[in-house]
Amino acid sequence: STSDDEGDGAFTRSQALFERVARTIAGGESSYARLKKGLELCFDHGEGSHFWDIDGNEYIDYSLGYGPLIFGHRPKKIIEAVFEAVNRYGTVATFPYDLDAEVGELITELVPGVDLLRFANSGTEATMAAARLARAYTGRSKIVQMEGGYHGWADTHFWSSHPDVWRPEVSPYSPVPRPGSRGIPACYGEALLIAQYNDREGLAQLFERYGDDIAAVLVEPVQCNTGVILPEPGYLEFLREITRAYGALLIFDEVITGFRLAPGGAQERLGVVPDISTFAKALGGGFPIAAFGGSFEVMQLEATNQVMHGGTYTANVVALAAARAVLTEMKTRRQEIWSVLDGYGERLREGLAEACRSAGLRCLVQGIGPVWHIFFAKPDAPDLERIRNYREAHAYASIELFDRFHRAMLARGVYFHPYHFERWFVSAVHTEDDVRRTLEAAAEAAQEVVA
Ligand code: PLP
Repeated sequence: STSDDEGDGAFTRSQALFERVARTIAGGESSYARLKKGLELCFDHGEGSHFWDIDGNEYIDYSLGYGPLIFGHRPKKIIEAVFEAVNRYGTVATFPYDLDAEVGELITELVPGVDLLRFANSGTEATMAAARLARAYTGRSKIVQMEGGYHGWADTHFWSSHPDVWRPEVSPYSPVPRPGSRGIPACYGEALLIAQYNDREGLAQLFERYGDDIAAVLVEPVQCNTGVILPEPGYLEFLREITRAYGALLIFDEVITGFRLAPGGAQERLGVVPDISTFAKALGGGFPIAAFGGSFEVMQLEATNQVMHGGTYTANVVALAAARAVLTEMKTRRQEIWSVLDGYGERLREGLAEACRSAGLRCLVQGIGPVWHIFFAKPDAPDLERIRNYREAHAYASIELFDRFHRAMLARGVYFHPYHFERWFVSAVHTEDDVRRTLEAAAEAAQEVVA
């Protein structure tokens, strides 16, 4: 049911629909951290950089479907390309077809570290495949992940991600991982080690102790699941060197950064090339697709089926037609697209920081290009120049102030992810008007938070 009337900030219809949804859908959601309790908005439709809830309230959207909508909601060119392809091919090919070749050629051309790749359906799957490949290639068992990093919800990787969301008291830091859910067997944790992002010393110690058994370091090149945390100068280079020195592989999880920080992802923008990379989100522009790939040498194990990876729906027509349209846009309109993504990203970061600080809110706005986060300081937190890892984010960031700012922005028609350790995204179709209205809203919202 589409509501034509304009919203007045009430959520009456959302509340009623949410109750109905939750009668059959467990928790009312099909992914664990979409909804915030008490903020159960129900979606009506989206268009460009905006979406509407079923009460008719309109929002400027900085969540963008949790990342994929890099060309906004209902991107006309991509949708038309998908319809055209479905009319031409049907929906699943399961034989090699020309979309395989075309999308494969586009990805290998755009991404420095990918010579050969495979398609998958989600970031979770792509990361599982990448880790299996690294273990097979090295003949070793352990993968190093960063605390607060997120690589999907699989038993093998959903460890030490968002430790404070489920347990308000964060346990002392330890290289021994903590499961992110009930039901995950302890044995999977034995195949992981946990490091702190940006901590070279700690990682060097892990390599000294376990180096013979470390298959790979699996890392988000910019850690975007603890708010947004940038690599310190030289950190990614250090990861490249230490993995090489110990005969381990470097895996970049570019599910968020891929086809977003640049057409070639963080590895292009930041200039460090991993052995294996994983992609999802922006690659499909809102259609479900993922991929993993790497050097010829490493990917030979996939090519010869010594390492198994599969899936009924991998490389389906809808996914590949969308990816072809997305990548063609990125390749041919690169300058135009990234001047919007980077330009608005930068202005919003500066403007949001300014709005909050002018109101007397201590905060840090961290990000790069089209992705960033605002951390509000707890009253007793020290002033920091930047947040470098999960522990610092946890010590610094006030959930209460974040929640209040989120509410105040929502009431002014600006939406971003409702959790304090997620992130804002800007799309290639946000407008001057969106930026202006967002910063006006931020100035008012910040005043309201301090009042
Ligand atoms: N890796 C990273 C860095 C992510 O942010 C996510 C999802 O947010 C995933 C992997 C999992 O991807 P998906 O939700 O497509 O399974």
